Amino acid sequence: MAERRSDRVYGWQWKWYHWDNQQFNNVDGARRWVKWAMKKYKVAGVPTVRAKVKGQVSFFRPIDWSIHLLKHHWNVAVALHESAHVIHFYYYGDNDDPHDEKWLGIFLWLLIESGLWPREAILASVKKNNLTYSNQMSPAAIKRKHPCVTFKNLRKKKGSK
Ligand SMILES: [Zn+2]
Repeated sequence: MAERRSDRVYGWQWKWYHWDNQQFNNVDGARRWVKWAMKKYKVAGVPTVRAKVKGQVSFFRPIDWSIHLLKHHWNVAVALHESAHVIHFYYYGDNDDPHDEKWLGIFLWLLIESGLWPREAILASVKKNNLTYSNQMSPAAIKRKHPCVTFKNLRKKKGSK
């Protein structure tokens, strides 16, 4: 179940034409957007963002609070995709379905807030791909929630993609 939703998320995401391109010359461009996202959601620790040379996927790794980005993922959309995982983990902890409705609600909020894509276009494309999301995931909506992560207990958490 969880995997199928992830596949649908990826399917939707890669339809956006520049999402899989190397938009920035180096990982700093992506790093700036991760920092921007953390500030919006008041996440206490900005993750380390590293360039990834080998492998097939980019990911967020909770155990050392790091994001690893393949070169062709140095763009705003992937930086915000991974940032949404960080925010999701920070407020809700580990999850069997990392691309659940809450995560997508956060990702969409960030994409729209970036001002790079029209809200109507983003929401219409999500709808067309039958992806459901929570619309209660703005920073204002979740600001009273107590974070699940304290940086002391991070080492005990297992990794998630
Ligand atoms: Zn993901």
